[in-house]
Amino acid sequence: MITSAAFANKRYAILGLARSGAAAAEALLASGAQITVWDRQDVARTAFEGRCDIADPLEMDLTGFDGLVVSPGVPLNTHPITAHAAKYDVPIIGDIELFALARPDLLPHKVVGITGTNGKSTCVALVHHILEMAGIPTVLGGNIGEPIMGQEPLAPNDQGDGVYVLELSSYQIDLTQSLDCDVTGLTNVTPDHLDRYDDFAAYAASKARLFSMQSVERLAVFGSLTEPAGDIFEAVKAVRPTGRALAVNLNYLRSLQSGWPSLQGPHNLENVALAVAIVEELGVKPAQWQHALPRFHSLPHRMESVCEEDGVLFINDSKATNTASTAPALAAFPPVEDRARVHWIVGGLAKEDGLGECDGQLGNVAAAYTVGEAGPRFAELLDGRVPAVERCELISEAVSRAREASKPGDVVLFSPACASFDQFRDYEKRGEHFRQLVGVIAERAQDCSPAFFDTDEAA
Ligand code: ADP
Repeated sequence: MITSAAFANKRYAILGLARSGAAAAEALLASGAQITVWDRQDVARTAFEGRCDIADPLEMDLTGFDGLVVSPGVPLNTHPITAHAAKYDVPIIGDIELFALARPDLLPHKVVGITGTNGKSTCVALVHHILEMAGIPTVLGGNIGEPIMGQEPLAPNDQGDGVYVLELSSYQIDLTQSLDCDVTGLTNVTPDHLDRYDDFAAYAASKARLFSMQSVERLAVFGSLTEPAGDIFEAVKAVRPTGRALAVNLNYLRSLQSGWPSLQGPHNLENVALAVAIVEELGVKPAQWQHALPRFHSLPHRMESVCEEDGVLFINDSKATNTASTAPALAAFPPVEDRARVHWIVGGLAKEDGLGECDGQLGNVAAAYTVGEAGPRFAELLDGRVPAVERCELISEAVSRAREASKPGDVVLFSPACASFDQFRDYEKRGEHFRQLVGVIAERAQDCSPAFFDTDEAA
Protein backbone atom coordinates (compact mmCIF):
# COMPACT_ATOMS: atom_id res chain seq x y z
CA MET A 1 0.00 0.00 0.00
CA ILE A 2 1.03 3.64 -0.30
CA THR A 3 2.08 5.27 2.97
CA SER A 4 3.54 8.68 3.74
CA ALA A 5 5.13 10.59 6.59
CA ALA A 6 2.84 13.45 5.52
CA PHE A 7 -0.03 11.74 7.37
CA ALA A 8 1.77 10.96 10.65
CA ASN A 9 -0.14 12.35 13.62
CA LYS A 10 -2.70 14.04 11.37
CA ARG A 11 -6.39 13.56 12.04
CA TYR A 12 -8.76 12.35 9.36
CA ALA A 13 -12.40 11.27 9.34
CA ILE A 14 -13.41 8.79 6.66
CA LEU A 15 -16.98 8.56 5.41
CA GLY A 16 -17.70 5.48 3.29
CA LEU A 17 -15.73 2.26 3.72
CA ALA A 18 -16.25 0.64 0.34
CA ARG A 19 -13.14 -0.23 -1.59
CA SER A 20 -11.43 3.16 -1.95
CA GLY A 21 -12.46 4.34 1.55
CA ALA A 22 -11.23 1.15 3.21
CA ALA A 23 -7.91 1.33 1.34
CA ALA A 24 -7.53 4.99 2.34
CA ALA A 25 -8.23 4.13 5.98
CA GLU A 26 -5.64 1.32 5.94
CA ALA A 27 -3.03 3.56 4.30
CA LEU A 28 -3.65 6.35 6.82
CA LEU A 29 -3.44 3.93 9.75
CA ALA A 30 -0.19 2.47 8.42
CA SER A 31 1.15 6.03 8.02
CA GLY A 32 0.52 6.84 11.69
CA ALA A 33 -2.56 9.05 11.27
CA GLN A 34 -5.37 9.19 13.83
CA ILE A 35 -8.54 8.26 12.06
CA THR A 36 -12.27 8.03 12.72
CA VAL A 37 -14.15 5.87 10.24
CA TRP A 38 -17.81 5.48 9.36
CA ASP A 39 -20.04 3.58 6.98
CA ARG A 40 -23.80 3.23 7.32
CA GLN A 41 -23.40 -0.54 6.86
CA ASP A 42 -22.16 -2.21 10.02
CA VAL A 43 -20.34 -5.00 8.10
CA ALA A 44 -18.10 -2.38 6.54
CA ARG A 45 -17.29 -0.96 9.99
CA THR A 46 -16.44 -4.35 11.51
CA ALA A 47 -12.99 -4.53 9.88
CA PHE A 48 -11.97 -1.41 11.84
CA GLU A 49 -13.29 -2.36 15.26
CA GLY A 50 -10.63 -1.98 17.93
CA ARG A 51 -8.21 -0.37 15.45
CA CYS A 52 -9.46 3.20 15.36
CA ASP A 53 -12.40 5.39 16.38
CA ILE A 54 -15.71 4.54 14.75
CA ALA A 55 -18.26 7.36 14.57
CA ASP A 56 -20.43 9.17 12.05
CA PRO A 57 -18.66 12.42 11.06
CA LEU A 58 -22.06 14.06 10.62
CA GLU A 59 -22.59 13.74 14.38
CA MET A 60 -19.06 14.82 15.29
CA ASP A 61 -17.34 18.01 16.28
CA LEU A 62 -14.72 18.14 13.50
CA THR A 63 -12.55 20.81 15.15
CA GLY A 64 -8.88 19.96 14.64
CA PHE A 65 -9.41 17.47 11.80
CA ASP A 66 -7.04 17.81 8.83
CA GLY A 67 -9.46 16.37 6.34
CA LEU A 68 -12.66 14.46 5.77
CA VAL A 69 -12.18 11.64 3.24
CA VAL A 70 -15.42 10.83 1.45
CA SER A 71 -16.25 8.24 -1.18
CA PRO A 72 -16.91 9.54 -4.73
CA GLY A 73 -20.37 7.97 -4.43
CA VAL A 74 -21.46 10.61 -1.89
CA PRO A 75 -23.38 13.36 -3.73
CA LEU A 76 -21.70 16.47 -2.35
CA ASN A 77 -24.37 18.70 -3.92
CA THR A 78 -27.15 17.29 -1.74
CA HIS A 79 -25.49 15.51 1.21
CA PRO A 80 -25.49 17.31 4.59
CA ILE A 81 -21.81 16.45 5.11
CA THR A 82 -20.81 19.31 2.81
CA ALA A 83 -22.26 22.00 5.09
CA HIS A 84 -21.12 20.17 8.21
CA ALA A 85 -17.46 20.07 7.07
CA ALA A 86 -17.66 23.70 5.97
CA LYS A 87 -18.86 24.70 9.44
CA TYR A 88 -15.57 23.39 10.87
CA ASP A 89 -13.51 24.53 7.91
CA VAL A 90 -12.36 20.98 7.24
CA PRO A 91 -11.48 20.16 3.61
CA ILE A 92 -13.48 17.38 1.97
CA ILE A 93 -11.08 15.16 0.05
CA GLY A 94 -10.89 11.74 -1.60
CA ASP A 95 -8.34 8.98 -2.00
CA ILE A 96 -6.80 10.65 -5.07
CA GLU A 97 -5.97 13.71 -2.94
CA LEU A 98 -4.35 11.42 -0.35
CA PHE A 99 -2.28 9.96 -3.18
CA ALA A 100 -1.29 13.49 -4.26
CA LEU A 101 -0.26 14.34 -0.68
CA ALA A 102 1.78 11.12 -0.44
CA ARG A 103 3.70 11.72 -3.67
CA PRO A 104 6.75 13.47 -2.13
CA ASP A 105 7.50 10.23 -0.26
CA LEU A 106 7.27 8.02 -3.36
CA LEU A 107 10.34 7.08 -5.41
CA PRO A 108 10.82 9.17 -8.59
CA HIS A 109 7.72 8.60 -10.70
CA LYS A 110 5.26 10.13 -13.13
CA VAL A 111 1.50 10.48 -12.95
CA VAL A 112 -0.92 10.38 -15.87
CA GLY A 113 -4.49 11.58 -15.16
CA ILE A 114 -7.25 11.02 -17.71
CA THR A 115 -10.81 12.27 -17.48
CA GLY A 116 -13.77 12.75 -19.85
CA THR A 117 -17.33 11.52 -20.18
CA ASN A 118 -16.62 8.49 -22.36
CA GLY A 119 -13.47 6.59 -23.18
CA LYS A 120 -11.59 7.11 -19.91
CA SER A 121 -11.22 3.43 -19.11
CA THR A 122 -10.17 2.55 -22.62
CA CYS A 123 -7.57 5.33 -22.67
CA VAL A 124 -6.03 4.52 -19.29
CA ALA A 125 -5.99 0.81 -20.12
CA LEU A 126 -4.24 1.66 -23.42
CA VAL A 127 -1.64 3.88 -21.76
CA HIS A 128 -1.03 1.21 -19.12
CA HIS A 129 -0.75 -1.53 -21.76
CA ILE A 130 1.68 0.43 -23.96
CA LEU A 131 3.87 1.31 -20.96
CA GLU A 132 3.89 -2.29 -19.78
CA MET A 133 4.89 -3.55 -23.20
CA ALA A 134 7.65 -0.93 -23.28
CA GLY A 135 8.99 -2.33 -20.00
CA ILE A 136 8.14 0.74 -17.93
CA PRO A 137 6.83 -0.02 -14.41
CA THR A 138 3.21 1.09 -14.18
CA VAL A 139 0.05 0.71 -12.16
CA LEU A 140 -3.52 1.50 -13.09
CA GLY A 141 -5.88 3.05 -10.55
CA GLY A 142 -8.46 5.69 -9.76
CA ASN A 143 -11.90 4.95 -11.17
CA ILE A 144 -10.72 1.58 -12.45
CA GLY A 145 -9.43 -1.50 -10.68
CA GLU A 146 -7.82 -1.54 -7.27
CA PRO A 147 -7.94 1.64 -5.19
CA ILE A 148 -4.72 3.55 -5.66
CA MET A 149 -3.84 3.80 -1.95
CA GLY A 150 -3.98 0.01 -1.66
CA GLN A 151 -1.48 -0.60 -4.44
CA GLU A 152 2.24 -1.26 -4.10
CA PRO A 153 4.35 1.83 -4.80
CA LEU A 154 6.46 1.73 -7.97
CA ALA A 155 10.23 1.86 -8.33
CA PRO A 156 11.98 3.22 -11.44
CA ASN A 157 13.88 0.81 -13.72
CA ASP A 158 16.28 1.14 -16.68
CA GLN A 159 13.38 2.04 -18.99
CA GLY A 160 12.28 5.00 -16.88
CA ASP A 161 10.38 6.20 -13.85
CA GLY A 162 7.35 4.23 -12.71
CA VAL A 163 4.07 5.65 -14.00
CA TYR A 164 0.82 5.80 -12.04
CA VAL A 165 -1.99 5.90 -14.60
CA LEU A 166 -5.18 7.28 -13.07
CA GLU A 167 -8.69 7.24 -14.48
CA LEU A 168 -10.46 10.19 -12.88
CA SER A 169 -14.21 10.63 -12.77
CA SER A 170 -15.54 14.13 -12.21
CA TYR A 171 -16.62 13.04 -8.73
CA GLN A 172 -13.03 12.11 -7.92
CA ILE A 173 -11.72 15.41 -9.32
CA ASP A 174 -14.21 17.25 -7.08
CA LEU A 175 -12.48 15.60 -4.10
CA THR A 176 -8.95 16.44 -5.26
CA GLN A 177 -7.16 19.74 -4.73
CA SER A 178 -3.45 19.21 -5.38
CA LEU A 179 -2.85 16.53 -8.00
CA ASP A 180 -0.23 17.93 -10.37
CA CYS A 181 -0.17 15.29 -13.11
CA ASP A 182 2.87 15.00 -15.37
CA VAL A 183 0.51 14.44 -18.29
CA THR A 184 -3.26 14.95 -18.38
CA GLY A 185 -5.84 13.87 -20.94
CA LEU A 186 -9.45 14.80 -21.68
CA THR A 187 -11.36 12.38 -23.92
CA ASN A 188 -14.59 14.39 -24.45
CA VAL A 189 -17.35 16.11 -22.49
CA THR A 190 -21.02 15.32 -23.18
CA PRO A 191 -24.06 15.65 -20.88
CA ASP A 192 -24.02 13.01 -18.13
CA HIS A 193 -24.46 12.80 -14.35
CA LEU A 194 -26.51 15.95 -14.31
CA ASP A 195 -28.13 14.85 -11.04
CA ARG A 196 -24.82 15.60 -9.33
CA TYR A 197 -24.25 19.07 -10.80
CA ASP A 198 -26.24 22.30 -11.07
CA ASP A 199 -26.02 22.13 -14.86
CA PHE A 200 -23.89 20.92 -17.76
CA ALA A 201 -21.51 23.87 -17.36
CA ALA A 202 -20.83 22.87 -13.76
CA TYR A 203 -20.10 19.28 -14.83
CA ALA A 204 -17.67 20.56 -17.49
CA ALA A 205 -16.04 22.87 -14.94
CA SER A 206 -15.42 19.88 -12.72
CA LYS A 207 -13.49 18.17 -15.54
CA ALA A 208 -11.57 21.38 -16.25
CA ARG A 209 -10.15 21.43 -12.72
CA LEU A 210 -7.83 18.54 -13.62
CA PHE A 211 -5.97 21.03 -15.83
CA SER A 212 -5.98 23.93 -13.41
CA MET A 213 -4.30 21.71 -10.81
CA GLN A 214 -1.51 20.91 -13.29
CA SER A 215 1.69 23.02 -13.59
CA VAL A 216 1.60 24.98 -16.82
CA GLU A 217 4.83 23.57 -18.26
CA ARG A 218 3.41 20.05 -18.19
CA LEU A 219 1.48 18.50 -21.09
CA ALA A 220 -2.33 18.41 -21.45
CA VAL A 221 -3.78 16.37 -24.33
CA PHE A 222 -7.31 16.77 -25.73
CA GLY A 223 -9.32 14.20 -27.69
CA SER A 224 -12.62 15.56 -28.96
CA LEU A 225 -12.90 19.35 -29.14
CA THR A 226 -16.69 19.29 -29.38
CA GLU A 227 -18.01 21.92 -26.95
CA PRO A 228 -17.53 22.35 -24.09
CA ALA A 229 -14.23 20.45 -24.47
CA GLY A 230 -13.08 22.99 -27.10
CA ASP A 231 -13.54 25.83 -24.61
CA ILE A 232 -11.55 23.95 -21.98
CA PHE A 233 -8.78 23.36 -24.54
CA GLU A 234 -8.65 27.06 -25.46
CA ALA A 235 -8.56 28.12 -21.81
CA VAL A 236 -5.76 25.69 -21.02
CA LYS A 237 -3.78 26.66 -24.14
CA ALA A 238 -4.04 30.34 -23.24
CA VAL A 239 -2.06 29.87 -20.02
CA ARG A 240 0.51 27.28 -21.17
CA PRO A 241 3.80 27.65 -23.02
CA THR A 242 3.56 26.75 -26.73
CA GLY A 243 2.92 23.08 -27.37
CA ARG A 244 1.91 22.20 -23.83
CA ALA A 245 -1.80 21.91 -24.70
CA LEU A 246 -2.27 19.53 -27.61
CA ALA A 247 -5.30 18.53 -29.66
CA VAL A 248 -4.79 15.00 -30.93
CA ASN A 249 -3.87 14.31 -34.51
CA LEU A 250 -5.91 11.46 -35.97
CA ASN A 251 -4.67 11.65 -39.53
CA TYR A 252 -1.37 9.88 -39.25
CA LEU A 253 -2.95 7.05 -37.21
CA ARG A 254 -5.93 6.37 -39.45
CA SER A 255 -4.02 4.18 -41.91
CA LEU A 256 -2.76 1.98 -39.07
CA GLN A 257 -6.13 1.33 -37.40
CA SER A 258 -6.96 -1.81 -39.37
CA GLY A 259 -4.10 -3.51 -37.55
CA TRP A 260 -5.72 -3.07 -34.12
CA PRO A 261 -8.61 -5.57 -33.92
CA SER A 262 -9.78 -4.45 -30.49
CA LEU A 263 -9.70 -0.77 -31.30
CA GLN A 264 -12.18 -0.34 -34.11
CA GLY A 265 -14.53 2.62 -34.60
CA PRO A 266 -13.91 6.37 -34.81
CA HIS A 267 -14.01 6.75 -31.02
CA ASN A 268 -11.19 4.27 -30.62
CA LEU A 269 -9.07 6.17 -33.13
CA GLU A 270 -9.49 9.17 -30.84
CA ASN A 271 -8.69 7.06 -27.78
CA VAL A 272 -5.53 5.71 -29.40
CA ALA A 273 -4.46 9.20 -30.47
CA LEU A 274 -4.83 10.44 -26.91
CA ALA A 275 -2.93 7.46 -25.47
CA VAL A 276 -0.15 7.77 -28.04
CA ALA A 277 0.39 11.47 -27.35
CA ILE A 278 0.57 10.69 -23.64
CA VAL A 279 3.03 7.80 -23.88
CA GLU A 280 5.27 9.70 -26.30
CA GLU A 281 5.50 12.45 -23.70
CA LEU A 282 6.68 9.74 -21.29
CA GLY A 283 9.47 8.71 -23.66
CA VAL A 284 7.85 5.78 -25.48
CA LYS A 285 9.03 5.51 -29.09
CA PRO A 286 6.70 5.00 -32.10
CA ALA A 287 8.11 1.50 -32.69
CA GLN A 288 7.11 0.60 -29.12
CA TRP A 289 3.49 1.80 -29.29
CA GLN A 290 3.11 0.39 -32.77
CA HIS A 291 4.14 -3.00 -31.39
CA ALA A 292 1.73 -2.71 -28.44
CA LEU A 293 -1.51 -1.57 -30.15
CA PRO A 294 -2.28 -4.77 -32.14
CA ARG A 295 -1.82 -6.70 -28.87
CA PHE A 296 -4.38 -4.71 -26.88
CA HIS A 297 -7.51 -6.62 -25.83
CA SER A 298 -10.69 -4.61 -25.51
CA LEU A 299 -12.03 -4.19 -22.02
CA PRO A 300 -15.05 -6.30 -21.17
CA HIS A 301 -18.38 -4.68 -22.08
CA ARG A 302 -16.85 -2.02 -24.35
CA MET A 303 -17.29 -2.94 -28.00
CA GLU A 304 -16.37 -6.45 -26.99
CA SER A 305 -16.64 -9.05 -29.78
CA VAL A 306 -18.42 -11.91 -28.07
CA CYS A 307 -18.61 -14.33 -30.99
CA GLU A 308 -19.28 -14.77 -34.67
CA GLU A 309 -22.09 -17.14 -35.55
CA ASP A 310 -23.01 -17.96 -39.14
CA GLY A 311 -21.19 -14.85 -40.31
CA VAL A 312 -22.99 -12.58 -37.81
CA LEU A 313 -20.85 -10.70 -35.30
CA PHE A 314 -22.25 -10.23 -31.78
CA ILE A 315 -20.90 -7.20 -29.92
CA ASN A 316 -21.34 -6.47 -26.23
CA ASP A 317 -21.15 -2.72 -25.57
CA SER A 318 -23.09 -2.76 -22.30
CA LYS A 319 -20.84 -0.02 -20.92
CA ALA A 320 -22.48 2.42 -23.34
CA THR A 321 -24.80 4.05 -20.82
CA ASN A 322 -25.52 7.26 -22.76
CA THR A 323 -26.22 8.17 -26.39
CA ALA A 324 -22.81 9.79 -26.84
CA SER A 325 -21.08 6.48 -26.17
CA THR A 326 -23.46 4.44 -28.36
CA ALA A 327 -23.10 6.78 -31.35
CA PRO A 328 -19.51 5.73 -32.17
CA ALA A 329 -20.48 2.08 -31.75
CA LEU A 330 -23.15 2.53 -34.44
CA ALA A 331 -20.68 4.48 -36.56
CA ALA A 332 -18.16 1.62 -36.41
CA PHE A 333 -20.28 -0.52 -38.78
CA PRO A 334 -21.15 1.44 -41.93
CA PRO A 335 -23.30 -0.15 -44.67
CA VAL A 336 -21.66 -2.59 -47.07
CA GLU A 337 -22.81 -2.31 -50.68
CA ASP A 338 -25.54 0.06 -49.48
CA ARG A 339 -26.94 -2.50 -47.06
CA ALA A 340 -27.25 -1.35 -43.44
CA ARG A 341 -25.88 -4.09 -41.19
CA VAL A 342 -26.49 -3.16 -37.56
CA HIS A 343 -29.15 -4.94 -35.50
CA TRP A 344 -29.18 -2.55 -32.61
CA ILE A 345 -30.43 -3.58 -29.18
CA VAL A 346 -31.18 -0.36 -27.31
CA GLY A 347 -32.85 0.66 -24.04
CA GLY A 348 -32.62 0.38 -20.28
CA LEU A 349 -32.94 3.27 -17.87
CA ALA A 350 -32.70 6.43 -19.97
CA LYS A 351 -30.35 9.17 -18.82
CA GLU A 352 -31.68 11.70 -21.33
CA ASP A 353 -34.67 12.15 -23.60
CA GLY A 354 -33.97 11.77 -27.30
CA LEU A 355 -31.45 10.02 -29.49
CA GLY A 356 -28.64 12.51 -28.90
CA GLU A 357 -25.60 11.79 -31.05
CA CYS A 358 -27.12 8.49 -32.23
CA ASP A 359 -29.41 10.53 -34.46
CA GLY A 360 -26.60 11.02 -36.97
CA GLN A 361 -25.79 7.31 -37.21
CA LEU A 362 -29.21 5.82 -37.96
CA GLY A 363 -28.24 5.13 -41.58
CA ASN A 364 -26.16 2.18 -40.33
CA VAL A 365 -29.11 0.53 -38.58
CA ALA A 366 -30.92 -2.36 -40.28
CA ALA A 367 -33.30 -2.87 -37.35
CA ALA A 368 -33.68 -1.66 -33.77
CA TYR A 369 -34.81 -3.90 -30.92
CA THR A 370 -36.00 -1.82 -28.00
CA VAL A 371 -35.77 -3.12 -24.43
CA GLY A 372 -36.24 -2.06 -20.82
CA GLU A 373 -37.95 0.90 -19.26
CA ALA A 374 -36.91 3.29 -22.02
CA GLY A 375 -37.83 0.76 -24.74
CA PRO A 376 -41.23 2.26 -25.66
CA ARG A 377 -39.75 5.76 -25.88
CA PHE A 378 -36.91 4.59 -28.15
CA ALA A 379 -39.45 2.72 -30.31
CA GLU A 380 -41.40 5.96 -30.70
CA LEU A 381 -38.27 7.93 -31.59
CA LEU A 382 -37.01 5.33 -34.06
CA ASP A 383 -40.26 4.43 -35.82
CA GLY A 384 -39.98 5.49 -39.44
CA ARG A 385 -36.33 6.48 -39.01
CA VAL A 386 -34.83 2.99 -39.33
CA PRO A 387 -36.11 0.16 -41.58
CA ALA A 388 -37.58 -1.87 -38.71
CA VAL A 389 -38.34 -1.40 -35.03
CA GLU A 390 -39.11 -4.43 -32.88
CA ARG A 391 -40.53 -3.75 -29.44
CA CYS A 392 -39.03 -6.32 -27.06
CA GLU A 393 -39.30 -5.91 -23.34
CA LEU A 394 -36.43 -8.26 -22.52
CA ILE A 395 -32.91 -8.52 -23.88
CA SER A 396 -33.46 -12.26 -24.39
CA GLU A 397 -36.31 -11.57 -26.80
CA ALA A 398 -34.27 -8.94 -28.60
CA VAL A 399 -31.34 -11.32 -29.04
CA SER A 400 -33.49 -14.08 -30.50
CA ARG A 401 -35.31 -11.75 -32.88
CA ALA A 402 -32.04 -10.12 -33.97
CA ARG A 403 -30.47 -13.53 -34.48
CA GLU A 404 -33.36 -14.61 -36.69
CA ALA A 405 -33.35 -11.43 -38.76
CA SER A 406 -29.62 -11.06 -39.32
CA LYS A 407 -27.75 -12.21 -42.41
CA PRO A 408 -24.07 -13.04 -42.86
CA GLY A 409 -22.04 -9.83 -42.63
CA ASP A 410 -24.47 -8.27 -40.13
CA VAL A 411 -23.68 -7.17 -36.61
CA VAL A 412 -25.88 -7.66 -33.56
CA LEU A 413 -24.87 -4.70 -31.45
CA PHE A 414 -25.90 -4.50 -27.80
CA SER A 415 -25.17 -0.84 -27.10
CA PRO A 416 -28.06 0.26 -24.89
CA ALA A 417 -27.38 4.04 -24.61
CA CYS A 418 -28.97 3.77 -21.15
CA ALA A 419 -28.05 2.93 -17.58
CA SER A 420 -28.70 -0.64 -16.49
CA PHE A 421 -30.46 -0.12 -13.19
CA ASP A 422 -34.00 -0.84 -14.44
CA GLN A 423 -33.19 -4.55 -14.79
CA PHE A 424 -29.63 -5.13 -13.55
CA ARG A 425 -27.28 -4.33 -10.69
CA ASP A 426 -24.80 -2.66 -13.05
CA TYR A 427 -23.64 -2.58 -16.65
CA GLU A 428 -21.34 -5.54 -16.00
CA LYS A 429 -24.17 -7.85 -14.96
CA ARG A 430 -26.16 -6.64 -17.98
CA GLY A 431 -23.25 -7.39 -20.33
CA GLU A 432 -22.73 -10.83 -18.80
CA HIS A 433 -26.41 -11.53 -19.39
CA PHE A 434 -26.05 -10.57 -23.05
CA ARG A 435 -22.98 -12.79 -23.45
CA GLN A 436 -24.82 -15.73 -21.95
CA LEU A 437 -27.76 -15.15 -24.26
CA VAL A 438 -25.63 -15.24 -27.34
CA GLY A 439 -24.48 -18.63 -26.18
CA VAL A 440 -21.06 -17.97 -24.85
CA ILE A 441 -20.74 -18.13 -21.12
CA ALA A 442 -17.66 -16.11 -21.72
CA GLU A 443 -14.80 -16.94 -19.46
CA ARG A 444 -13.23 -13.69 -20.57
CA ALA A 445 -14.46 -11.66 -17.65
CA GLN A 446 -12.79 -14.05 -15.27
CA ASP A 447 -9.62 -14.17 -17.34
CA CYS A 448 -9.40 -10.45 -17.17
CA SER A 449 -7.69 -9.10 -14.10
CA PRO A 450 -10.05 -7.41 -11.64
CA ALA A 451 -7.97 -4.33 -12.30
CA PHE A 452 -10.08 -3.84 -15.40
CA PHE A 453 -13.40 -3.36 -13.73
CA ASP A 454 -14.55 0.17 -13.02
CA THR A 455 -15.28 0.93 -9.43
CA ASP A 456 -18.51 2.70 -10.32
CA GLU A 457 -20.44 4.06 -13.27
CA ALA A 458 -19.19 7.53 -12.50
CA ALA A 459 -17.82 9.67 -15.25
P1 ADP B 1 -15.53 5.48 -19.47
O1 ADP B 1 -14.55 4.81 -18.56
O2 ADP B 1 -15.25 6.94 -19.64
O3 ADP B 1 -16.96 5.20 -19.15
P2 ADP B 1 -15.04 3.44 -21.51
O4 ADP B 1 -13.71 3.36 -22.15
O5 ADP B 1 -15.38 2.43 -20.47
O6 ADP B 1 -15.24 4.91 -20.93
O7 ADP B 1 -16.17 3.43 -22.64
C1 ADP B 1 -17.52 3.64 -22.26
C2 ADP B 1 -18.41 3.59 -23.47
O8 ADP B 1 -18.13 4.70 -24.31
C3 ADP B 1 -18.26 2.36 -24.34
O9 ADP B 1 -19.54 2.05 -24.82
C4 ADP B 1 -17.37 2.79 -25.48
O10 ADP B 1 -17.63 2.07 -26.66
C5 ADP B 1 -17.72 4.27 -25.62
N1 ADP B 1 -16.53 5.08 -25.92
C6 ADP B 1 -15.25 4.75 -25.70
N2 ADP B 1 -14.44 5.74 -26.11
C7 ADP B 1 -15.21 6.73 -26.56
C8 ADP B 1 -14.95 8.03 -27.13
N3 ADP B 1 -13.71 8.49 -27.28
N4 ADP B 1 -16.02 8.78 -27.50
C9 ADP B 1 -17.27 8.32 -27.35
N5 ADP B 1 -17.58 7.11 -26.84
C10 ADP B 1 -16.57 6.32 -26.45
